[in-house]
Amino acid sequence: MTGKTKASIAIAGGGLLGRLLAWRLSRRDLDITLFEAGDLSASEGGACWTAAGMISPLSELVHSDKRVYQLGLQSLELWSDWSRQLEQQSGCKVEYRRAGSILVAHGKDRSELLQFLRELQGKLGESAGEQVQPLDVNALAELEPALQSFEQGLYLRGEADINNQCLLPILLTILRQQGVNLRDHSKVSCEAGQISLASGEEKFDCVIDCRGLGAKGQVEGLRGVRGEVMVVESREVVLQRPVRLLHPRYKLYAVPRSNGRTVIGATEIESEDLSPISVRSSMELSSALYSLNPAFAEARIVETRVNCRPATMDNLPYIHNEDGLVRVNGLYRHGYLLAPAMVEQVVNQVTQQRLQVV
Ligand SMILES: Cc1cc2nc3c(=O)[nH]c(=O)nc-3n(C[C@H](O)[C@H](O)[C@H](O)COP(=O)(O)OP(=O)(O)OC[C@H]3O[C@@H](n4cnc5c(N)ncnc54)[C@H](O)[C@@H]3O)c2cc1C
Repeated sequence: MTGKTKASIAIAGGGLLGRLLAWRLSRRDLDITLFEAGDLSASEGGACWTAAGMISPLSELVHSDKRVYQLGLQSLELWSDWSRQLEQQSGCKVEYRRAGSILVAHGKDRSELLQFLRELQGKLGESAGEQVQPLDVNALAELEPALQSFEQGLYLRGEADINNQCLLPILLTILRQQGVNLRDHSKVSCEAGQISLASGEEKFDCVIDCRGLGAKGQVEGLRGVRGEVMVVESREVVLQRPVRLLHPRYKLYAVPRSNGRTVIGATEIESEDLSPISVRSSMELSSALYSLNPAFAEARIVETRVNCRPATMDNLPYIHNEDGLVRVNGLYRHGYLLAPAMVEQVVNQVTQQRLQVV
């Protein structure tokens, strides 16, 4: 009689967390199955496809808990290492860039920059000085020549960004190479040791639920927070790194990609509406972009995307662990910022469970 020799793990949700977890766990002696409701090859479904891919612990610290910042610092280190590994294994660029980010405000909104700096100093104490550099007009022009209309800014050293449109397909390629059992078009629900599909139930030694907002029915307090991004293409304006515009009403981030495109966004709406971007949001984002550099007026809008960030009531991520079931969720607007640190914790918890092969 032949029995199975490896512990079996089911991962529900082939978004950011699901792919990263499947990759890290498939490097161990485990039998991994990844279930995804949509199509794993299509650039749609999870919030991970919509995201701008900023990994920005300092920018986020002003509005979030210090734990998010600390997990973000761990993730930054892991991304540097993981992006190298992914590139070596796939032979493709993930476009991970660690060139810091820049914050600017128009002259009349200068107090926004000051307030931001004060809040960071309040939260970080003396170490703020090493991580945040005030920029005068010359320093700004040197770092980011396209921002010539601004007289001052802040440089947040060490922040990074990753091109999700490169990363997610690369992860899929590697999962195939590593023999992960890929089951897309499979909408599932998760219980301890069991995955339920329309066709019936399947047993596993451990189930990991990474369905993001798709877990809503099974996770109390989970909610979606709508976000919209536009992708513009410009021949005239080239940014070197993510830029944020601080403004009392029209906040903007602009994340340049290597192909002349820039992802812009910042909307955050308490709604789970997935309908296309509104006229109001597109006008506000466009005018904020135009105010960064008027040459953006001739940029072409090549894509718009809408999705919901999976968030808990306190906007903090969580890992729930019981025998045969791990639920990891609530990455909110911090998926790329937090995913590697969360994935490391889940991998440790799962492998320490000493899974019984049944
Ligand atoms: C507009 C916008 C901009 C963002 N920008 C950033 C940013 O710059 N930096 C940052 O750190 N974060 C950003 N985020 C947040 C980030 O995208 C999320 O935090 C992250 O994607 C969450 O990862 P996840 O794997 O938990 O969920 P998701 O990425 O949503 O993946 C969940 C997966 O589960 C699948 N699924 C759902 N239900 C089921 C089911 N029943 N069965 C099987 N599969 C199922 C889904 O199809 C999906 O593929 C942004 C989000 C949005 C919307």
